[in-house]
Amino acid sequence: LTQHHEAVASDRRRPADDDPQGVRSVGVIGGGTAGYMAALALKAKRPWLDVTLVQSKEIPIIGVGEATVTYMVMFLHHYLGIDANELYRKVMPTWKLGIKFDWGPAEDEPFMATFDWHHHSIGGLGALDATGSVNGFTLQSLMMMADRSAVFEVDGKPVSLMKYLPFAYHLDNARFVGYLTELAEQRGITHVEARLADVVLGGEEWVDHLTTTDGRELTFDFYVDCTGFRSMLLGKTLGTPFHSYSDTLFTNSAVTGNMPHDGVLKPYTTATTMQAGWTWNIPTPESDHIGYVYSTDHISDEQAADEIKERFPTVDGLRQVRFRSGRHDKAWRGNVYAIGNSYAFVEPLESTGLLMSALSIQAMVATLPTSWSETPARDVVNLGLGQRWDAIRWFLGIHYKFNTKVDTPFWKDVRDRCDVSGFKPLLDLYANGAPLTRRDPFLLDLALGAAPTFFGLAGIDNLLLGQKVPATKLERTETNDDWWQRRKAADALVAKAMSQADALQAFAEHPEFNKQLLEDFDSWAGRHIAPYIGMN
Ligand code: FAD
Repeated sequence: LTQHHEAVASDRRRPADDDPQGVRSVGVIGGGTAGYMAALALKAKRPWLDVTLVQSKEIPIIGVGEATVTYMVMFLHHYLGIDANELYRKVMPTWKLGIKFDWGPAEDEPFMATFDWHHHSIGGLGALDATGSVNGFTLQSLMMMADRSAVFEVDGKPVSLMKYLPFAYHLDNARFVGYLTELAEQRGITHVEARLADVVLGGEEWVDHLTTTDGRELTFDFYVDCTGFRSMLLGKTLGTPFHSYSDTLFTNSAVTGNMPHDGVLKPYTTATTMQAGWTWNIPTPESDHIGYVYSTDHISDEQAADEIKERFPTVDGLRQVRFRSGRHDKAWRGNVYAIGNSYAFVEPLESTGLLMSALSIQAMVATLPTSWSETPARDVVNLGLGQRWDAIRWFLGIHYKFNTKVDTPFWKDVRDRCDVSGFKPLLDLYANGAPLTRRDPFLLDLALGAAPTFFGLAGIDNLLLGQKVPATKLERTETNDDWWQRRKAADALVAKAMSQADALQAFAEHPEFNKQLLEDFDSWAGRHIAPYIGMN
């Protein structure tokens, strides 16, 4: 069907030369990841646009280590057209096969939430029956448990199986933004170093021009607000209402730092339960980047800093960050479209920041008006992005609601009051028969409507089964012996896999590995998939 149906007309029209309402110039305000990715996308997909990025060095970017999700591999390479081997050389990403959660029942070992969770390649219920833990339910779960990546030495030569096991990047924020800045310059994006003083309206929901503190006036046809938490256009100027997620997500601060890893690169992000929140650990080539996300209603900044130092004694360079969880009512109003923290934010428990910026960018590019004389498709964008953000709120909520690792005032409070009402239909379905992904396909179609998250039902299963949230388990037809046969076969393969440091070295020496990943038809990230997710 997809090969033979009528060709879809291109939505990449350019404005007629004589159209006085044509959209020809775009001002992207803000130079963090949201701003640069937005500017690069506009230039890549609408090359005739005059794209300007306005940014003030006086206001620093967020600049913390960032974990991402698999979608970003395709977004960076297929959508933004970033060369993979160059990204490895300049940004030095490490790989994330999933998240290791030190989470769930007090007596349990950490559980692995993997990106190959759809496959149940070894078996989730079998893992629970045979070992008492969801761990080892997929090949990638075993790779994580053994600190290995799917590159093998065969007859003295490396062979990559990374194209069969979805993974994401850990990106050092400062290095990543530095690289995007370089690309923006190469690709003809005008850079204006200036601090925004005022946003001058020309009508209701309509920005006429901007003024800067050094007295300049900047006028564009379309304004992209990427000013981070300041939300200078959407929030401050247009006064767009903000929907707080604080009934679900109680944290509002992070204290971040770095600690040595002695060359051991873990192929995953770690999320560890703390007294009043949790800590991430994101490996970069030089060190582990860590951050304690906590609630100042439950502990002070000093207590948070003391706790992180006590738990991770070699941590260094601590700095505090404040945030608020929630989203604005709309991302797009009039000629202003907000992307990144200026529109919405949740804590990085499932690494959704860059993912949501990418989705906002795709939605903007796909609906960018050619002319203001057309009817803009604002509502579909605002509704769709809002739903996706809200689904992330509920998804993060079920991390909190069911974590019984510690009994501090914060965690008792969270378990008591955390609002997960948006996921109630799914939680009921799970309790009534788990795993969700093994239920009747029609039922799943209904259920998916309640959970439009990137993580899907497999991600929810992984999290609920990992935390041992009670459910009636679906019947298994095989014995534990059969399960162990598969597990042993997978263990034998994993024992031969390389450490991440060696595997990354093999990728550096063999550029064809990235080509296999991004071009091969049997790869999870192959180019042929891009059009199906709007990335052509
Ligand atoms: P910022 O990086 O804050 O950039 C804002 C830009 O606006 C800056 O360039 C600034 O100079 C400019 N600006 C602001 N005001 C003005 C003005 N008046 N005039 C001119 N310029 C102005 N996301 C993930 O995907 N994974 C993670 O692991 C992750 N971890 C996070 C941890 C923490 C503690 C926080 C707070 C966020 C985390 N995020 C994570 C989210 C992530 O940082 C952001 O989504 C992402 O970096 C986008 O930031 P931004 O571009 O919206 O804002």
